[in-house]
Amino acid sequence: MGAVLIFTHENRLLVELARSKLEVAGIAVFLKNEYAQGATGELAPHQAWPELWLERDRDYERAMQLLRDAEGQADWICRHCGESNGAAFDYCWQCDSSRPPG
Ligand SMILES: [Zn+2]
Repeated sequence: MGAVLIFTHENRLLVELARSKLEVAGIAVFLKNEYAQGATGELAPHQAWPELWLERDRDYERAMQLLRDAEGQADWICRHCGESNGAAFDYCWQCDSSRPPG
């Protein structure tokens, strides 16, 4: 029992999007490393990524379901460089390739 990490991404906006999705559903969440980025303008190391945590680990499966089910919000994998991109983006953030159809 306790808090559990549900989502992390180097893009803080995606983490905040996930947070609001879960909050709307009534799931208690909090952020870690929310302000870890931005000082240098460079990519932060993984451990400094903003993290979205559930206050209760029993919410985990429901939260994962919500994040997966959000219509058209599934991440997509870039065919060019293999990077995982948020659904909000039509181009790979890393190499600028366009999103594959479907
Ligand atoms: Zn790419």
